[in-house]
Amino acid sequence: RVQGTRLYSSEDPLTILTSDTLKETLRNSSAAWLVQFYSSWCGHCIQYSPTWKALAGDVKDWERAIRIGVLDCAYEKNFDICKEFEIHFYPTFRYFKARSNTFDVGKTYRGPDRELQTVRQLMVNFLQNHTKEDWPVGCPQLEPSRSDDVLPLLGQKADQYTGIIIEDEDSYVGREVILDLMVYEGVRVTRVVSTDRALLEKLGVTTVPSAYLLHPNGTHGLMDVQKRLRFFFSSFLKLLPGVHRKQTNSAREPVHAGSRGHGAAEVWKEFDKSKVYMVDLESGLHYLLRVELASHQSLEGEELKTFKDFVTVVAKLLETLLEWLVSLPLERIPYDAILDLVNNKMRISGMYLSDRLQWVGCQGSRPELRGYPCSLWTLFHTLTVQAALRPDALANTGLEEDPLAVLQTMRRYIGTFFGCQECGRHFEEMAKESLSQVRSLDQALSQVRSLDQATLWLWRKHNQVNNRLAGALSEDPRFPKTQWPTPDLCPACHEERDGLHVWNEERVLAFLKLHYGAANISPKYAS
Ligand code: FAD
Repeated sequence: RVQGTRLYSSEDPLTILTSDTLKETLRNSSAAWLVQFYSSWCGHCIQYSPTWKALAGDVKDWERAIRIGVLDCAYEKNFDICKEFEIHFYPTFRYFKARSNTFDVGKTYRGPDRELQTVRQLMVNFLQNHTKEDWPVGCPQLEPSRSDDVLPLLGQKADQYTGIIIEDEDSYVGREVILDLMVYEGVRVTRVVSTDRALLEKLGVTTVPSAYLLHPNGTHGLMDVQKRLRFFFSSFLKLLPGVHRKQTNSAREPVHAGSRGHGAAEVWKEFDKSKVYMVDLESGLHYLLRVELASHQSLEGEELKTFKDFVTVVAKLLETLLEWLVSLPLERIPYDAILDLVNNKMRISGMYLSDRLQWVGCQGSRPELRGYPCSLWTLFHTLTVQAALRPDALANTGLEEDPLAVLQTMRRYIGTFFGCQECGRHFEEMAKESLSQVRSLDQALSQVRSLDQATLWLWRKHNQVNNRLAGALSEDPRFPKTQWPTPDLCPACHEERDGLHVWNEERVLAFLKLHYGAANISPKYAS
């Protein structure tokens, strides 16, 4: 519960404002603001909160131009500030211009509806209402370019890509893509309206919206996307080689050093992002068993049970070392015995666990990035998928037929052993979706009723983590956090409804089963 709010938490991609921070935040802000003044007892505000969170997630990359905030008027400490801002109804949405140093109660939103797409488009209009003098510091140009400005660029070498969205006058796609890419370097986006015929004729563009790409080497061509939608254009541009998120000091999260499991500087290994690499799973297990667990002198009680269940799930699903472990007494085992297992017994059981950390699909552009936490996610996705594909694999373990077996094991491992304690805390917190019924991870998990749902649940949570960490210091600029799988990996997973990106979960599930299925696990680079 953060500063009097029950509907929003610090895990949401928005700013929770209070009487202590509101005026200071708005005064001379380099970005514009859209603030929802709500009341945590108001039923409509409760119903609406998922839309507001979805909006905040959707426009998170716009935050140097316009930011989303909330203020709870039902919180006693905020009574006076809500009065001062003349808030009479809940929720009230107010826009605040950037770079204003006079007190201002904002402009009330009176749009036709409160649908996400409508509010998002009004945010664009609001940004464009700024003048040259108060234009938000980080906001790119949103007006269309003219053919005369763009035609001379054709065939020219440049130090970055230029994306050109060609669209009808009343379309928002171009402006949304420009804002989506504003925190990326290596690419610039502009838009041209379809009535400006010269460019369309020169490029042979006949349908709009279309997107055209000028490469730094002077070549150019239509953007090769499966669907001509904002999300596809933005994803395509973000994934271009050499395009990465700008690192800023304002990134929110500290790097969680100590849980990365980095090895010595390695030679870069080429890899295919549509594959899962056995060597990442092996290195992850190596790190987990040899480094992370080594900080525990001995394991006993609940810790030992957590470890046993973890190994049971890993072993059964990855067919490895269970026999040895279950023969051990449950009371207490020294860590040395685990090391002995890793070093010797596993070799006897035919599984050689590499004693060297090397990451392939989980390589980072710097040694402290990606690596171990990436392999842990990969391992858990592989396990949920294996459990869904082979429901009988956990027979006789006491965990059979439990759709939650893998998720609970993961959760307990994360809570008990994962070196990044903050990550574990965030993970627990995140499940408390503050939405009426779901108040704890236990409750969230109780809604998972099948092995397929467990697979999807983990995918969904991982995307929530990706959303929260986008732009954080722990993000590898070479591997920007995106909602995954990206359209290039699974075009059928993505759809658009009323201007909002939506997942086709049936297709996502099918994709996860292929991606994390045995046939997609590559032995390349494995010892
Ligand atoms: P990762 O997010 O580690 O993903 C690994 C791979 O999984 C990706 O390369 C992609 O191929 C695939 N993938 C991506 N998204 C999905 C998805 N939705 N479903 C299935 N597969 C997917 N770091 C922090 O800085 N702060 C935190 O609070 C934090 N909390 C964490 C909580 C948990 C439970 C875990 C396991 C890790 C946490 N981390 C946290 C680490 C962080 O999530 C990343 O693992 C790390 O930053 C490395 O990122 P990455 O780019 O390698 O991709």
